[in-house]
Amino acid sequence: MLTARVHGAGPTGALAALALADAGWRVQLRDPLPAHDLCSRSRAYALTHSSRELLEQLGLWQSLQAALAPFRRLDLCDRATGQRVPFLGADLGNGRTELVGWILEHAPLMQLLLQAAEAHPLIQLDLGAMADGAQEAVDLCVAADGHHSPTRQACGIAHWRFPYRQGCLTVQVRLRGSDPDQAWELFRPEGPFAVLPLGGDAFQLVWSAPLWRLRELEQLDGVAFLDALSAALPEELQVEVLLDQPRAFPVALEMAWPLHRGRTVLLGEVAHRCHPVGGQGLNLCWRDVAELQQLAARCTGGRLSPSRLGRLYTRRRWLDIALVLWATDALVRLFSNRSPLLLPLRRVALSSLGRFQWLRQLSLRAMSDGPCRLWMP
Ligand SMILES: Cc1cc2nc3c(=O)[nH]c(=O)nc-3n(C[C@H](O)[C@H](O)[C@H](O)COP(=O)(O)OP(=O)(O)OC[C@H]3O[C@@H](n4cnc5c(N)ncnc54)[C@H](O)[C@@H]3O)c2cc1C
Repeated sequence: MLTARVHGAGPTGALAALALADAGWRVQLRDPLPAHDLCSRSRAYALTHSSRELLEQLGLWQSLQAALAPFRRLDLCDRATGQRVPFLGADLGNGRTELVGWILEHAPLMQLLLQAAEAHPLIQLDLGAMADGAQEAVDLCVAADGHHSPTRQACGIAHWRFPYRQGCLTVQVRLRGSDPDQAWELFRPEGPFAVLPLGGDAFQLVWSAPLWRLRELEQLDGVAFLDALSAALPEELQVEVLLDQPRAFPVALEMAWPLHRGRTVLLGEVAHRCHPVGGQGLNLCWRDVAELQQLAARCTGGRLSPSRLGRLYTRRRWLDIALVLWATDALVRLFSNRSPLLLPLRRVALSSLGRFQWLRQLSLRAMSDGPCRLWMP
């Protein structure tokens, strides 16, 4: 039986272990954090259809139903030009008339992934303090140990990092003025601002702005923070109460190259990191997992040698990653300003999006299925 070791049991590593086990590999999943710490991040992810497909294939989608907050509409608003473009499920085409995406909180996701990994007969979970010393030889080593990845460093793989001046601040709130199944991407001159439904009147806010300003906001007391938040949101969205503590993070554009060395492959934030605009990050990580699973299944069937898996993985993943990194970066540069040179371009782009359904379909499908699937029927 083929064997793999997965370094990192975050959302990418835990799902990669399940995907490899599903393909018939024996897997060791390692992380220095215990299960409780792995589950305790206060964050919500916007899942797209590419993530749904992988979770369905691995038999995990049904178990997540109670934790998913679906949304049927995504409103894109440019606050500098006052334009607004609604995206609906019907804009996705391919008969998908219902939902644009789902919001999922980190805790229920990680609980499910770790429980499934623990129950799987082919997965050995090694969480908490990890034993040092010589490690058993395996057919494949998966680096999913986050953007600082010690595994990537040990392999000597090159890694580029371009920090944004913008950071992002996340906070959960109760909000009036939005439907419970509506998400918003507000383009403000200081940075994009996402409003993501969590069910009922609870919403996760992802507020991008210069990092120094977010650090100041983080220090404000509750009332002063609510005032600042109300000033940042359009009038129709009114914040009632904070549900958790605001937290600011630096944001960077990062990519490693190549995506493998020998029998080690890089997955998730080890390989790439992008601005949170458009909620692309985790979906891109999970498309790495989907590709790995297909190649691993070919190895199990004897149609691919594990020694060639890494090379093929790099060849098949780089374009999707590069396009998503480029597109998120372009969105941030185009919309985070009031430049009189760019405003006319933004007006034309948003009016065309509002006017032509094929253009909305193209952009929503690129976001939801990944840009490389645009060429597929
Ligand atoms: C504020 C914010 C908002 C975001 N919003 C969204 C969103 O709406 N939608 C979306 O799709 N994405 C979003 N993202 C991105 C998303 O959080 C990441 O894409 C995701 O966490 C990446 O998962 P990962 O498993 O690759 O890395 P991580 O979650 O960083 O996991 C890495 C794991 O490796 C472990 N590790 C570290 N060192 C070692 C070692 N030596 N050996 C073994 N394991 C090790 C760590 O303990 C950790 O558990 C957001 C990110 C931020 C910062």
